[in-house]
Amino acid sequence: MDDFWHALVANFAVVGTVFALWTLAQEWLHRRRRRAQQFALGTFMGLSAVATIAFAVEVQPGVLFDLRSAPLAIAGLFGGPIGASIAAVLTAGYRAGLGGAGMVHGLISIAIVSLIGQTVHLVLNGRTPKAVHIIGVASAVALVSLLTTLTVSPLAEASRVALTPAAALIFVATLLAGFVVLRGETQAAERALMSAALIGSPEYFYIKDRASRFVVANLHVADNAGYQRPEDLVGKTDFDLTDSERARQLLEEEQQIMRTGQSMLDRKERLVDPMGRERWFLTSKVALHNSDGEAIGIAGTTRDITEQQRLEAELTDSRNLLNYAVNEMSDGLAMFDRNGYLVYCNERYQSLFPLTGDARKPGAHIRDILLRVVQTGEQLNLGDPEVWLQVVSGSLSKPSEEQVNLFDGRWLLIQTRPTEEGAAMVVISDITTVKQTEGELRSLTTELKLLAETDGLTGLMNRRSFDLHLVEELERSQLEKRALSLVMFDVDWFKSYNDTLGHPAGDECLRVVGRCLKMALLRHGDLAARYGGEEFVAILPDTGEDSALLVADRVRLALAELKLPHPGAAGRTVTLSAGVANYAADETRRSAGQLLSRADEALYEAKAGGRNRVTAWKPRDAARIVG
Ligand code: GH3
Ligand code: MG
Ligand code: MG
Repeated sequence: MDDFWHALVANFAVVGTVFALWTLAQEWLHRRRRRAQQFALGTFMGLSAVATIAFAVEVQPGVLFDLRSAPLAIAGLFGGPIGASIAAVLTAGYRAGLGGAGMVHGLISIAIVSLIGQTVHLVLNGRTPKAVHIIGVASAVALVSLLTTLTVSPLAEASRVALTPAAALIFVATLLAGFVVLRGETQAAERALMSAALIGSPEYFYIKDRASRFVVANLHVADNAGYQRPEDLVGKTDFDLTDSERARQLLEEEQQIMRTGQSMLDRKERLVDPMGRERWFLTSKVALHNSDGEAIGIAGTTRDITEQQRLEAELTDSRNLLNYAVNEMSDGLAMFDRNGYLVYCNERYQSLFPLTGDARKPGAHIRDILLRVVQTGEQLNLGDPEVWLQVVSGSLSKPSEEQVNLFDGRWLLIQTRPTEEGAAMVVISDITTVKQTEGELRSLTTELKLLAETDGLTGLMNRRSFDLHLVEELERSQLEKRALSLVMFDVDWFKSYNDTLGHPAGDECLRVVGRCLKMALLRHGDLAARYGGEEFVAILPDTGEDSALLVADRVRLALAELKLPHPGAAGRTVTLSAGVANYAADETRRSAGQLLSRADEALYEAKAGGRNRVTAWKPRDAARIVG
């Protein structure tokens, strides 16, 4: 019986040794494909089962007992159908070769145990087995062994009794084997993950030993150094990768880090690549220490920040450009936040306000700035200062445009535009010149208007303006049901005045007539105009025919009394004749043309009647003559 247990222990040792070897093989295996791993597992477990059979206990002639079930079940659990089949075929082949009374049962149990392992594998459907699955498989395998021991016929009763506790050993062996493989697989998966992360990292990552030789490097480093695989870099130094000057610098730098233990963080470096392009890198290196605190190497990462650097440079350029533009612009620019504090302003904004420029600084509140404006009297026409302060402080929240007059005569246009965030942008332009030009234009326009309406010789209203006024006065008088009179004057024998005394004298004479006309029209609202040549007109609103005749005669007398010499005239002095036309207050059908032609007719009558007289128009040759 001792032999039996010795053999079992030897069997256990075989299983243990095989699984220890399997753990060692993981390092090599984890870089292979999954199918190859399953194939290797199947082979390994198959050979392990064969080895246990080689160390089997011959319970009775031809009947073998060993721990083959453990590797077979594990081959199925972790290696699936591929692993299970290879292991089972190897084992079954070997067992069949040995023959004996227990061979058939042996082969059947090989098949059942393999099936248990791969069934659980299939149920897991690609997921990694957990402890519970390993325990389940171990229990099932132990149960099969127990049932076989108890029921298979070639076994003698004594053997049955001896083998019953051995099922527990199979359980333990399977359990241990399962955990060893699981641990190996878990570690391999973690290693694969870390190595994939390292290799695929977008940064350059490397670990160097005490002598600055590469121990680990990722694909980026290898690629940059012109190597195909990261492994090719192992054992190399920077002297193999770059020029000796730079390699020496890097070596010194790394040695110093290891000597002092002081990490180098984010060192920015500009390099020119083989194509002549400028590239920027950010490198960090830290010293690595063993548990005794001795430096054993360094770990380094380098990040390509060329694009980031380019964007930063672009941003700086555009910021400089913007600053330049804002400071050089002729307008003042200020930005107030939602609470009324000045957050930004250009120099022009300050210089546009000579008395309060020093108060207009970032951080100042709009109310304090305005208070200084009130105190210094910088701005004119503020009205009530308190009201002004209220209105202007509140105006930041809505768009506005205001023209303000400063103490020194300058005019500023202040435009406020609120932003969506509740802040306000204020643009201030000096519009003094515009304002001056505007004033000049306005007086020029007035002057031009006056010129357009005035007769140059006499200073009276001209014909064009008279026509417009006549229409207006007619409409008004008709609307207000008032009388309206029109007088037309004509200098007598004026052609001969020119002929005898000359044209300039004629002009002077016309000026005198104009003055007489102006002086004789006493009532506000009376209008005098030069109608053309030596003809003049007067519009007399709210004036009846009798009054109009008096006014007209006043003009005639004013001229006559001057007794201006006129060699060509009958009376030897300058005189004029006048025709009066009138609409009575109740007359409703009025027209400028009719009134003018009636005055003209009346004037004709005055001329025909001997000149130097005033005639009123009368229908049917009934003109009324005065003077
Ligand atoms: P009558 O008594 O019938 O009105 O005779 P008259 O010579 O005044 O006749 P008429 O109206 O035909 O002559 C007008 C003259 O007035 C013609 C022109 O020589 C002169 N005259 C018209 N406009 C001006 C002017 O602006 N300056 C001067 N000096 N003479 C003018
Ligand atoms: Mg005339
Ligand atoms: Mg005349």
